[in-house]
Order: sequence, then C-alpha cells, then structure tokens
Amino acid sequence: MASESAAPVAMSEAERAKEIAQLKAGKTAAMANMVDEAETPLAEEYVLPGGEAPQEEASVEILPEQADEFTCASCFMVRHRTQLVREDNGQKFCSECEG
Ligand SMILES: [Zn+2]
Repeated sequence: MASESAAPVAMSEAERAKEIAQLKAGKTAAMANMVDEAETPLAEEYVLPGGEAPQEEASVEILPEQADEFTCASCFMVRHRTQLVREDNGQKFCSECEG
C-alpha cells in the first residue's frame, strides 16, 4: 500500500520540478530581454514578428505615472506616492535618491 502511493507522489514531484525549472528558464529569458531593452535602442523592438509589443510599449510610455504615483526628478523613475520624501518647486524626489 505504501509503495503504491509512493510512486504517483514521486512522479508528480518530478513533474513539479520540471515545471519549476521551465518557469525559471522563462523568467531568466524575460529578464535577459529586459536588460537588452534597457541597453539597446528601441529600434530592435519593431523587428518583432508578433506585432503586439509596440502598442503595449506605447501605452506604457504615454502613461508615465498613475494618480498615486509620481516621477522622481532625480532618477526619473515612476515611484509610488509612499516613496515621495521631498518636493521642491514641483520637483519630487523619491526615498531612494534622498535616502
Ligand atoms: Zn529618485
């Protein structure tokens, strides 16, 4: 009885490990893509055959900040309001730049 129940569990654990490995591989690829985007000109984006990315990219650029966010005047990153620690003549600075 014990050996009968042990086999399926071992199988599913192996399957899970496989899935985790695949997830990790996917994440690594995604991160590599992000690094690539940051270091190379946007021109590379338009080579994509899918044609779905450009619109997503555009909406991200058009909406730099939400109502509860601000753009740091020092690092130009969009930060959440909770990270706003200093405001000077309408210029806002995040906790990372001021910390
Ligand atoms: Zn900043």
